[in-house]
Amino acid sequence: MDLKPSAWDFALQQFNIAADKLGIENHLRKRLGNTKREITTHFPVRMDDGSVRIFTGYRIHHNTVRGPAKGGIRYHPNVTLDEVKALAMWMTWKCAVVDIPFGGGKGGVVCDPAKLSRQELENMTRRYATEIADWIGPEGDIPAPDVNTDAQIMAWFMDTISVHHGHIERALVTGKPVLTGGSRGRVDATGRGVSIIVAQAAKFLGLDLNGARTVVQGFGNVGLWSAVHLQELGCKIVGISDVSGGIFNPKGIDVIALKEYARQNNGVIEHYPEAEAISNEDLLELPCEILVPAALEEQITDKNAPRIKPLILAEGANGPTTPNADPILLDNGVFVIPDILTNAGGVTVSYFEWVQGLEGYYWKEDEVNARLTQTMEESFAAVNAMAKKHCVGLRTAANMVAIDRVAETIRLRGLYP
Ligand code: NAD
Repeated sequence: MDLKPSAWDFALQQFNIAADKLGIENHLRKRLGNTKREITTHFPVRMDDGSVRIFTGYRIHHNTVRGPAKGGIRYHPNVTLDEVKALAMWMTWKCAVVDIPFGGGKGGVVCDPAKLSRQELENMTRRYATEIADWIGPEGDIPAPDVNTDAQIMAWFMDTISVHHGHIERALVTGKPVLTGGSRGRVDATGRGVSIIVAQAAKFLGLDLNGARTVVQGFGNVGLWSAVHLQELGCKIVGISDVSGGIFNPKGIDVIALKEYARQNNGVIEHYPEAEAISNEDLLELPCEILVPAALEEQITDKNAPRIKPLILAEGANGPTTPNADPILLDNGVFVIPDILTNAGGVTVSYFEWVQGLEGYYWKEDEVNARLTQTMEESFAAVNAMAKKHCVGLRTAANMVAIDRVAETIRLRGLYP
């Protein structure tokens, strides 16, 4: 039997710490410590060789009291029900911490997209969308990209459900291409949000970002755009990694040149000539002022945490730090900015995309970025104030801000019947 705690166990541990501090009622604790509804679907997909393969997918709503379920769709071989449940719960807190009118949801399909042709990926996306279509809609559940899913997959998803409804449904997924009703500024919004939060933390800690050594784990949507925007703020990106391994250059890595290199190198950074190779494990332990884990969950654990000592650890990924690593990092004086705050820029601009889709009126990129900056700065201030007031780390503070807002919404709405 596998006794290793799951991401869901971790999400519950973090929830319980904040719920204890807030002293919320037992019935709310039970409600928020559970999901609202869960779909597991085993669905058929026609493959290029004519065979039919069965895939397993999930869509979970954790809570919808503040608005429609909002959350990405992940394609990965390690997707499990418990992982999707945890990601859905974190979405509830993330939307609440930046105070946007959404609940929390998440979806995933167990698959290795690198082993699927483009046609197979499209077939799988369209069938998965159809399987969960009853739940999806601008007022019910609004998916977005996550690991291994992108704007193209969102366009297929939107098109499938629009065909079922007989008209275009722009507001039912976010992270779409701009031409299909996406928002300007969405593609880099999560990384831009990471850089805004790091800038706020640096200001608070008195750290000059000019030349600040920065390490980024992951070079997908979040990692790439975090690195680009942190470099724009003056940070020196000394280490980056992706699934092919890490690279290190103490003099700094030109992120834009690396992006172009990866584009010509099957999407990976391996063998980049302007840097040394380094393992993903060693990368996390590099001496630096800023560390941004932006790949997958459970990268920083009680095993490696004693050797991870940046000044600022800004969680670009969801759940990169296990709960038993948190006290070690805190003891070492690491300023840990939790995922639900650090990477909330993506869902914030998703909210802007939803609003624009409902109105059929589209904003300029500068307007999107200015509103994003305001939301992220206000959210950082609210979480930092909560941390000071209760003498807790930022993770517990962010959860307290979020859980308090969700719990109060439930109290105000009351219980039907
Ligand atoms: P992505 O698929 O675009 O990129 C993932 C990156 O991680 C890739 O560069 C991949 O090579 C790398 N990677 C995979 N396994 C790795 C490993 N073992 N070591 C190092 N790198 C590895 O995914 P993404 O959208 O950038 O998402 C990354 C994380 O950020 C996830 O936790 C996701 O839930 C979270 N997130 C994403 C968004 C968004 O807008 N895309 C928003 C909020 C949070």
